[in-house]
Amino acid sequence: MRDFDFLQPASVHEASRMLADLGEDCRVIAGGTALMLVMRQRMVNPSHVIAVDQIAAMQGIDWDHREGLRIGALSRHADLACSDVIKTHHPVLAEMAAQVANPQVRNQGTLGGNLCYGDPSTDPPGLLMALGARVVLQSSRGQRVLSMEEFLLDFFATAIESDELLVEVRVPPMAAGSHAQYTRFKRTAAEHRPLVSVSAVARLEQGHCQDVRLVIGASVAVPRRISQAEQFLQGKRASDAIAIEAAQIVAQAIEPISDLRGSADYRREMVRVQTRRTLQTLFARWGTLKESA
Ligand SMILES: Cc1cc2nc3c(=O)[nH]c(=O)nc-3n(C[C@H](O)[C@H](O)[C@H](O)COP(=O)(O)OP(=O)(O)OC[C@H]3O[C@@H](n4cnc5c(N)ncnc54)[C@H](O)[C@@H]3O)c2cc1C
Repeated sequence: MRDFDFLQPASVHEASRMLADLGEDCRVIAGGTALMLVMRQRMVNPSHVIAVDQIAAMQGIDWDHREGLRIGALSRHADLACSDVIKTHHPVLAEMAAQVANPQVRNQGTLGGNLCYGDPSTDPPGLLMALGARVVLQSSRGQRVLSMEEFLLDFFATAIESDELLVEVRVPPMAAGSHAQYTRFKRTAAEHRPLVSVSAVARLEQGHCQDVRLVIGASVAVPRRISQAEQFLQGKRASDAIAIEAAQIVAQAIEPISDLRGSADYRREMVRVQTRRTLQTLFARWGTLKESA
């Protein structure tokens, strides 16, 4: 690994100035679980590494009944999994975070680092897209607030500029009567990363699906909503039959990636299976919740 200068700013303002002054030759480090790997392999050779872990404004998880959740970019996966605020207001986020990787990565890796790296084989981006989350980017030039669709551009590519910091993620409150379900599929029990992720959010009104948001991740270069399936589900009575039909539509609509972990055909088939399971679980949970209400 090339020698580098290690900088530890105390504020977003100070970090932004460093990023602006040092240009493309410096890198932000949060938990380091992704960056250290590529630095060790000499795929990235920064002259300066800017550690943002001391910046208070990038920490914490808060709730505002109008704005929803504010998740500081430095929140680790384990923080999301254990947060009472998240468990109360967006329990699906805590359920998702508890499944990320393994205890070591969950205790070290941050949500901000996960999103900025743009790796498709991850959990949070797809669910955040389904929940309508936005990311807040800060630089010495000002602030930008982007939807997940605007932020996630392509395979390992996001909209963040080299002088910007991701400071927080905002997740709006769920609409009344809405429920969310996240499921992931791993090829083998020994693997950590998802081969498929499916996120579904829907309002179920008298047994009928309304305002469905269905996002596929991990098997595609960048998570995306499957509008054909969302439109198909709109107004339909929740049932096993429509879950099966919607899953078929999703499988036809995606452009799966193909790599050592799975061919495009295999991923398409697993996306079909996992979408069906996700919708069936969402419908079943909704029925249970209705009965206990
Ligand atoms: C063995 C292993 C298994 C894994 N399994 C999973 C899994 O199952 N599911 C899953 O979702 N993920 C998985 N991951 C990925 C893991 O979640 C990410 O590596 C982690 O969240 C990255 O966060 P970090 O804080 O360590 O980022 P870092 O390594 O510190 O940074 C990653 C990148 O983001 C940039 N960056 C970091 N924070 C900011 C910021 N606030 N603003 C601007 N740029 C920033 C850095 O410059 C760098 O380019 C796995 C990783 C490993 C090593």
